[in-house]
Amino acid sequence: MSSTDKIVLIDDDRVVGEIVSGLAGSMGLQCAVTRTPDEFFRHIGPETGVIILDLVMPEMDGIEILRLLGERQCKARIILMSGINIRVIETAKKLAQSLGLTVVGHLQKPFPIPQLQQMLTANFSGEKPDSPQKEEQLEIPDEDLYRAIERKEFVLYYQPQINIATGVVTGVEALSRWNHPQLGLVFPDNFISRIENLGLMDNFCWATAERALDEVRQFSRINGHLPRLAINVSVSSLRDLKFPDIFMNLARKYDFPAERIVLEITESGLMEFSLALDVLTRLRMRNFQLSIDDFGTGYSMMKQLQNVPAIELKIDKTFVMHMHSNHADLVMVEKIIEMGHELEMEVIAEGVETDEQLRMLRERGCDGVQGYLFSRALPPDELVEWLQNYRAQKLH
Ligand code: C2E
Ligand code: CA
Ligand code: CA
Repeated sequence: MSSTDKIVLIDDDRVVGEIVSGLAGSMGLQCAVTRTPDEFFRHIGPETGVIILDLVMPEMDGIEILRLLGERQCKARIILMSGINIRVIETAKKLAQSLGLTVVGHLQKPFPIPQLQQMLTANFSGEKPDSPQKEEQLEIPDEDLYRAIERKEFVLYYQPQINIATGVVTGVEALSRWNHPQLGLVFPDNFISRIENLGLMDNFCWATAERALDEVRQFSRINGHLPRLAINVSVSSLRDLKFPDIFMNLARKYDFPAERIVLEITESGLMEFSLALDVLTRLRMRNFQLSIDDFGTGYSMMKQLQNVPAIELKIDKTFVMHMHSNHADLVMVEKIIEMGHELEMEVIAEGVETDEQLRMLRERGCDGVQGYLFSRALPPDELVEWLQNYRAQKLH
C-alpha cells in the first residue's frame, strides 16, 4: 500500500457511511467513516488520500470543515457531496480551491454508486482496484439493428427462478438474445443500450413481451403449469402513460393473468424515473407485479423504496458472487434481505453459482434464487426439457 491510501468520510447519514465503506472495501481500500467533526479530524493525517465530505450536517457545516482543512494545509484530494443544489456545491468547490485545497469531484445526492467508484478508481489508480472486467463490445452497425427489429432476429432464452426453501421453480425470467446472421448469438450487453439510443426500445419491448407471453403460454400447455414470467422492462418504455393499458391488452390476448407477470425494472432506472411513479402504481392496480432489479447498485433508492409498489427486490449478482470472500459484499446482501423483508417484499438473489452461495443465502433468509447453479438461460425447448427433468429430480 502507498502512504496515502486511506479514505476518510464525514456524513451524518448512516446509510451513506455503510455504502461508501462497503464500496471502498470491495475495491480493497481502507475507509474511515465518521459522523461528527471531532471524529473526522481525529482520522485526518498524512496517510489520508481522499476525503469525502458532506456539505450539510447538523453539527458543523462542510464549509467550516473546508476552512479548517485549509488551515491545516491538507493535501488530500477532496470529493464534495450533498443533496443540495449543484450550484451550492460548485460555490463550495471554488471556496475550497481558494483555500489551497484540491477538490477532485463532487457528487449530488442521490448519486449512482458507479460514479463514486469511478472517482475512487481515478484517485487511487496506483492501487489497481479489482473492478469487474467489462467484456469487449462488438462493433455492430446501426443498420444491423434496424434490420434485426424488422426481421425479428431477437429471440428469448429463459432462466428458472427457484424458491430457496422448497426448491420449487416459481418462475422464469425472459432474457433477450440476438440471432445475428453472421455473428451468431449476441448477448444483450451488446444491443440493449444501442436499441435504446436509436429510439427503437418501444418497438423492441412490445415484440419481446408478446413473444414471451406466447412462448410461456405454450410451455404451460406442455406441462400443465404456468410459471410466473419475469420480463425486463426499460424505464424509457414506462414513460408512456398508456403502457399499463397496452400491457393489459396484450396479457388478455394470451390469456395470461397479470398477477403471473413480473416486470423487472432496474434500480438505477427507477432513480431517473422518480417523477413517473404513477405508471408503476397503475401497473400495480392492474395486478402486474413489479420487481426492482440490480438492487444495491444505486443507494438513493433505499430512501425512496417505500414509495415504489414493488413486490420483489433482486440482489445484484456482483454482491452475490463475491460475498463469500468479501465482507462488504456480504454486508450488502444481508442489508438488502433485511430491508426487503421490512418493506414486505420478497428478495431474490441472482448470479448464484455455487452451493456455498446458496447455503449462505438460505441461512440469511433470502426467498428466491436464480443462477448457473440451477441453470443458465435456455431456449424454450431446452427449458421445457429442463423443467421436466428438474421436477422429476424433486420427486425423489
Ligand atoms: P439482468 O436482468 O440483471 O439479468 C441477469 C443476467 O445475469 C443475465 O445476463 C443472466 O444470463 C446472467 N446470469 C444469470 N445467472 C448467472 C450466474 O449464475 N452467473 C453469472 N455470471 N451470470 C448470470 P444477460 O442475459 O446477458 O442479460 C444482461 C442484461 O441485459 C440483463 O441483466 C437485463 O438488464 C438486460 N436485458 C436482457 N434482456 C432484456 C430485454 O428483453 N429487455 C431489456 N430492457 N433488457 C434486457
Ligand atoms: Ca432482470
Ligand atoms: Ca441484475
